[in-house]
Amino acid sequence: MTKTTTCPCGSGHPYLTCCNPFHKGLAPKTAEKLMRLRYSAYALNLPTYIIKTTHPASSQFNHDLSKWSHDVSEFSQHTIFKSLEILDTQEQDHFATVTFVAHLEQDKKDVSFTERSTFEKIKGKWLYRSGLLSAGHAPNLITTNQLRILPLAYYGDPILRKVAEPVAKITDKIRALVEEMTETMDGCNGIGLAAPQVHHSIQLFIIRKPEESKSEQGKPGEVKVFINPTLSEPSSEKWTTSEGCLSIPSIHGDVERPKEITVDYTDLEGVLQKEKISGWEARIIMHENDHINGILFIDHLSKIERRKLEPFINAICKQIHNGTEL
Ligand SMILES: [Zn+2]
Ligand SMILES: [Zn+2]
Repeated sequence: MTKTTTCPCGSGHPYLTCCNPFHKGLAPKTAEKLMRLRYSAYALNLPTYIIKTTHPASSQFNHDLSKWSHDVSEFSQHTIFKSLEILDTQEQDHFATVTFVAHLEQDKKDVSFTERSTFEKIKGKWLYRSGLLSAGHAPNLITTNQLRILPLAYYGDPILRKVAEPVAKITDKIRALVEEMTETMDGCNGIGLAAPQVHHSIQLFIIRKPEESKSEQGKPGEVKVFINPTLSEPSSEKWTTSEGCLSIPSIHGDVERPKEITVDYTDLEGVLQKEKISGWEARIIMHENDHINGILFIDHLSKIERRKLEPFINAICKQIHNGTEL
């Protein structure tokens, strides 16, 4: 590489004055800049930069850093990065989406794909969070409505350990919070979200009801709002499956819960409801109800599993709260 080599990010400037200072440690001010920096890091086979700028919630996140680095490097070596086209950028204080088209060549064949990437700013640093992909040039991936995503509380934040206050009255503020929480849950690919997870210590959570006849999380179902809920009559029959949490990204563990539960709650219209619920929906309700009582799913893990996950949980915690690099 020489001083005059044009930067792969498409700026038209030489690499040394464009992406290089950022790859060496300078923090980008915008999510779009980070997007370009990551594209040129892929093009120049700089896996460490990719790893350092990936949010633990990303599906690409891997606790095995050497394997992750190897995989990124493999991709870089087998790909020619021809050009990058940014279609749209929407940026909030702490959350952003960037939709772009990447034109690549793999095995002598032209490949292009469109990605709507989401980015989250943590401790003043933008991180790549997730991507929605489509083959070719797909401007339909651009979101037309404005982003309304709330900042998340992550493991280690004391609000996640507080018992939340009851909701006294369903006001316009509560209705607006529910709308924002729904966008936040969907924007972060969650299936449930409790108010303390978005820094409101109140007894309210939302879930996306799993589609009927599907035991796994399939297509998104309707959103249900639970206010001041109480759970009772847990079935003696229990089942165990893997859970995760938006507040503890990249950590998954087996949790045993009752198959069936009864929930009394107030809905968003202020009507008292009583329902007997089973399966995945019951599990999501119990997970979210734990949140408003200061309990997290990792508290339910077996001692052995908890001990196994502890170093990973601590690493995530440090990265999120101290901005420590992996
Ligand atoms: Zn550049
Ligand atoms: Zn959770």
